[in-house]
Amino acid sequence: MSSERKVRVRFAPSPTGGLHLGGVRTALFNYLYARKHQGDFILRVEDTDQTRFVAGAEEYINECLAWCGLTPDESPAKGGSFGPYRQSERKPSYRQFAEQLIENGYAYYAFDTAAELEEQRKEQPNFRYSHENRLKLRNSLSLSPEETQQLLGAGTPHTIRIKVPTDEIVSFTDMIRGQVSFDTNLIDDKVLLKADGMPTYHLAVVVDDKAMEISHVFRGEEWLPSAPIHILLWEYLGWNDQMPQWAHLPLILKPDGNGKLSKRDGDRLGFPVYAMNWKDAQSDAVTKGFREMGFLPEAFVNMLGVLGWNDGTEQELFSLEELTQKFSVERISKAGAKFDFEKAKWFNHEWIKKTSNEALLPQIKDVLVAHQIQHIDDKYVAQVLYAVKERLTFVSDFWEHASFFFVTPESYDLDAVKPKWSAEKTTFFENINAAFETVESWKATDLEPFFKGAIQDSRMKMGELMMPFRIMLVGGKFGPDVFQIVELLGKEEVIARVRKALIAFTA
Ligand code: GLU
Repeated sequence: MSSERKVRVRFAPSPTGGLHLGGVRTALFNYLYARKHQGDFILRVEDTDQTRFVAGAEEYINECLAWCGLTPDESPAKGGSFGPYRQSERKPSYRQFAEQLIENGYAYYAFDTAAELEEQRKEQPNFRYSHENRLKLRNSLSLSPEETQQLLGAGTPHTIRIKVPTDEIVSFTDMIRGQVSFDTNLIDDKVLLKADGMPTYHLAVVVDDKAMEISHVFRGEEWLPSAPIHILLWEYLGWNDQMPQWAHLPLILKPDGNGKLSKRDGDRLGFPVYAMNWKDAQSDAVTKGFREMGFLPEAFVNMLGVLGWNDGTEQELFSLEELTQKFSVERISKAGAKFDFEKAKWFNHEWIKKTSNEALLPQIKDVLVAHQIQHIDDKYVAQVLYAVKERLTFVSDFWEHASFFFVTPESYDLDAVKPKWSAEKTTFFENINAAFETVESWKATDLEPFFKGAIQDSRMKMGELMMPFRIMLVGGKFGPDVFQIVELLGKEEVIARVRKALIAFTA
């Protein structure tokens, strides 16, 4: 393989449902490698298994990549000069390669019916179609050429299987794992072409990677056991000099590190595993996704970028742009990466802080609309956002932290005020309310000395009046700096809230 070869990588999901975060990480690492090397990032939809086809899954994949900012250079939707990019549309191109393999002695026709194979499996639970028993089964290796021709001539349904060699070692260099070897005696004769004429994943992946001039394959570690089949096919088809380089990405593990993270773990532990909500067409059941849970795409991508990769420093926050610059295969770890939902939330919190108010505003307004806030003043919302931003883990938390900026409290934390309430305090607030009327500058920096000066004059303690004041405005003992709240609410509203709260406090 020439070292000048253009980098062309592919993300090759099967459209079978929601996209697991591990799938998006595979897409991301492919994308990063392509961008880093001025290469092409291709989306190929692997839909040859018609029994697993799910309507809407391809659109979901497109939407998901768009949300994450991982725009493919070539895809079913966008096209490109190596299409079609949907495997089902390439169906006619596969049979010739399967036949070529038969001609060269690397594959064979298998006529065993599903029922016959089922019978075998019943008899031997560990049944594998392999070098050990292939001559005892119904195929073109065990039958005479005449019998085979007769069956083919009669249109007998058949599959084509690879003839895996006996007593060989298949070795290759994985960019992440180094030298990897497999004993062919442990590999079964996988089906390459199904009875319906569709290729299986194994044949299609090799034919398409060749046709699309894929230079590097980044895919999950779960595909490592399939690699020897693919390597044999590259060799048997005579394409060894064009074989891509392999990189099997570390698994994403359950939070406790015990095994691969599955959708069920998410359901069990209460966090999303899919990138976006996925609705099952049959049951209508919705599986929650990161997007709908309130994750910013920047945070989601950042979190995925450091699942199994780091730049060798303590840095954890990376934009897609920075990941592109810093990404290197050498720093991808071999060991599985534990998924930590608390850490995922931390990324979101950090990204909310990093994102400009302007960029967050549309989502914040959606939150307000969802809570029936009708009159929305962009400038006011932006100021409120500035005041509470540090506290948000999700954009939707905005309501919890800022609702009092938009609606007058209906109830108060009376347990915190009433036991220590006094006539003196009532008088203080009546007086301060009257004084507020005459205050000219309604700025936090002026209001604070003004209010604190009044407390000093009253000879009461700071906390005794500051805390009730906050509860009057907010309803409870939370929120940002009280004078920031006073400034933002405005004179009229503050006076009205103090008046209303006094009635509740003295009732
Ligand atoms: N279609 C496979 C999947 O669903 C692709 C595996 C590969 O990248 O070779 O993940």
